[in-house]
Amino acid sequence: MGWYEKIIRDQRIKKAEITQDNLKKIHRIYESSINEIAKDIELKGNNSICLNANHKALKEHEEKLRKELNSTISEGISKGADVGIGANNAINSEILKTSGLNVDETFNTMFAKVHQDVVDNIVTGKLYKDNKTLSDRIWNYTNANGKDIQDVITGGITLKKSARELANDLKEFVKPPKNRDPNFSRDYPDKAAKQIDYQVMRLARTAINHSYQTATIQSSMNNPFVEGIEWHSSLDHRACEVCVSRHGQIYPKDDVPLDHPNGVCTMIPYIPKSFDEIGSDIADWINGGVNEGIDDWVNGRYGDNVDSAKNILQDPNSKIRVGY
Ligand SMILES: [Zn+2]
Repeated sequence: MGWYEKIIRDQRIKKAEITQDNLKKIHRIYESSINEIAKDIELKGNNSICLNANHKALKEHEEKLRKELNSTISEGISKGADVGIGANNAINSEILKTSGLNVDETFNTMFAKVHQDVVDNIVTGKLYKDNKTLSDRIWNYTNANGKDIQDVITGGITLKKSARELANDLKEFVKPPKNRDPNFSRDYPDKAAKQIDYQVMRLARTAINHSYQTATIQSSMNNPFVEGIEWHSSLDHRACEVCVSRHGQIYPKDDVPLDHPNGVCTMIPYIPKSFDEIGSDIADWINGGVNEGIDDWVNGRYGDNVDSAKNILQDPNSKIRVGY
């Protein structure tokens, strides 16, 4: 395997690991939140399960849940950006290895700016047509989660369950539907198919993917040897028609479509020149040849390019979909 394929493969693995890790954390956050609610109910006993008294306590749990999800997903977004940047960083140093140029500091400064831009665009919602912030999206989902929990409590009370039974039902509810005690769907038929953390997981998967993808694009923006972004679809059962049709397509760096929610596609910086050709371009430039692309790149002059990329990403008429 060549150095380039290795970088791309490592990047794909890292992104998948970060995503999986984030989803696991999200599930654990939900689990502990619902376990706390269940414990409250058990401690207070059946008689105290009065909906109004319970409401305030539930809202407090919801608030805590929201905060934890916010910080976990933000962390995932930051790590996703690191993956995209890391790949370009590795590509840059591989390309420059034999040139004798030392531009690590320049690249570090440039990539720090890219990282911040990428994360900001997603957290503040600037990347999306609806401009919704990450915390607004989380708020909407956790608010709906709160209603579902309330429904289960109300349903359990209607069925005259003891506090103990109701607490156990809540612990069943946080499990994926296929792992639940079959009695749960008998007692709460309208929650039978509901996976409580599904939407927040989808949000996390999408946001991490977008941060990784836009970081890949923006950090390769001023690299003169990266002449486009190649769309790489998994081509397995998860890949939809759109992604399969995009597979292998090379998009201009400033006009790459954003992946749809739950997307898992990889963006590959497209470098058509051979290593030898790149080496001789750099050698010519070092020997006084004029090459504005290399000038801008090694001097970290990426501002105009990155700004234009950002404008296109945020342009309501671009190919970008609404997101989420
Ligand atoms: Zn797709």
